[in-house]
Amino acid sequence: MIDFQLTEEQKALREKARKFALDEMLPVSKKYDQSGEFPRDILEKAFKAGFMNLRIPKEFGGPGFGSIESVIVVEEMAAACAGITTSMYVNELGAEPIILMGTEDQKRRFLVPLTQQFRLISFATSEPSMGSDVAGMQAACEREGEYYILNGDKFFITNGDYADFFIIFARMKGTKRHQGLCAFFVPRETEGLSTGKPLPKLGHRASDTSVVMLRNVRIPSENMIGQEGNGFLLAMLTFMHTRPAIGAMATGLSRSAMEYAINYSKQRQAFEQKISNFQALQHVLADMYSRIEAMRLLTWKAAWLLDHGTNANIASSCAKLISSEDAMNIATQALQVYGGRGYLENYAVAKLFRDAKLFQIYEGTSQIQRQVISRFLFEEYQPTMKGI
Ligand SMILES: Cc1cc2nc3c(=O)[nH]c(=O)nc-3n(C[C@H](O)[C@H](O)[C@H](O)COP(=O)(O)OP(=O)(O)OC[C@H]3O[C@@H](n4cnc5c(N)ncnc54)[C@H](O)[C@@H]3O)c2cc1C
Repeated sequence: MIDFQLTEEQKALREKARKFALDEMLPVSKKYDQSGEFPRDILEKAFKAGFMNLRIPKEFGGPGFGSIESVIVVEEMAAACAGITTSMYVNELGAEPIILMGTEDQKRRFLVPLTQQFRLISFATSEPSMGSDVAGMQAACEREGEYYILNGDKFFITNGDYADFFIIFARMKGTKRHQGLCAFFVPRETEGLSTGKPLPKLGHRASDTSVVMLRNVRIPSENMIGQEGNGFLLAMLTFMHTRPAIGAMATGLSRSAMEYAINYSKQRQAFEQKISNFQALQHVLADMYSRIEAMRLLTWKAAWLLDHGTNANIASSCAKLISSEDAMNIATQALQVYGGRGYLENYAVAKLFRDAKLFQIYEGTSQIQRQVISRFLFEEYQPTMKGI
């Protein structure tokens, strides 16, 4: 049965999230973008308001939301500031591997601290020499009694400088490609772990992006999430659960870009009339609206599949691919509606344009999503047409 209605609880959650985004995030969005300062105060407010750790089950202190609720919240937050939302959402990315493969004891030890007080957890697969090719990671782990020793560098780690905890992926020494990857819960204060200076970025400047260095970091074996060699599967399952939220972020950003473009077009004059009178411009806005509807539907479909315990791998990749590509196009078109003013930092659309680009890159680039979808087409998809 297909049902596009939100429940009363979901509608109330959206209203609450929208109010938080407009009251707390939007007014400071420009400030944090320009200064690059970490928006800790806003994240703490979001934590207190119940907008972080969305999918942590109630028994471990979280709200126990499903993926639908998660994408509803994320769309609203990203409509106000994608950069702050990226920092906020990384706790979902960090908690997801524990939710997916943690033992009951690990969930109690690792998830409960995230919900009891404001804490940040980062997720680290990427390295200086690899990002897309997760199976190609070099950071190494080796067993020594009841411990694992980790060595290597992680690159591009969101909130890395501020995280209290990390989920770090590394390869068992002597293994190759997919077989040998492992995931560990690593507290920040662990000896041998350090972080570098924040990496300067084009957009999402309110989110911190850092290098994490591991030098003989000793992790108790009971901090391994899943089994030895399960790390690749765990990373892919995590992305299946979190990619719809990138679709939701792209949807939120696009909605704002469209709304700013409508508002501006109604007051800007050219050729002795409002530019909103030009049909060419009206059609651009109509395309934006219809693409945003499509982005949201794909995102909600992927989230719905996840909430129904169904394999959402392809749906998640479709949601992320289409939404990120469309967000970049919509942000570009919105900037065009502003003409020269769109190119100035005085107006919000310049930031939206810079922020939109990241959706095509992190949590698997657009090319990687296409690779996932095309592999499905050639290996699993059942065509109706038999001939050529
Ligand atoms: C702001 C920011 C925050 C990030 N946060 C995190 C984080 O918190 N944790 C984390 O682990 N990582 C994080 N990342 C890393 C991110 O996931 C990677 O940048 C991304 O996966 C791409 O990897 P790469 O940069 O190494 O590019 P590469 O993998 O080197 O790719 C370079 C280019 O080649 C293309 N390409 C690669 N392989 C193929 C292929 N098989 N077919 C076609 N094209 C291909 C890519 O699409 C890309 O265009 C973050 C990145 C950024 C920019």
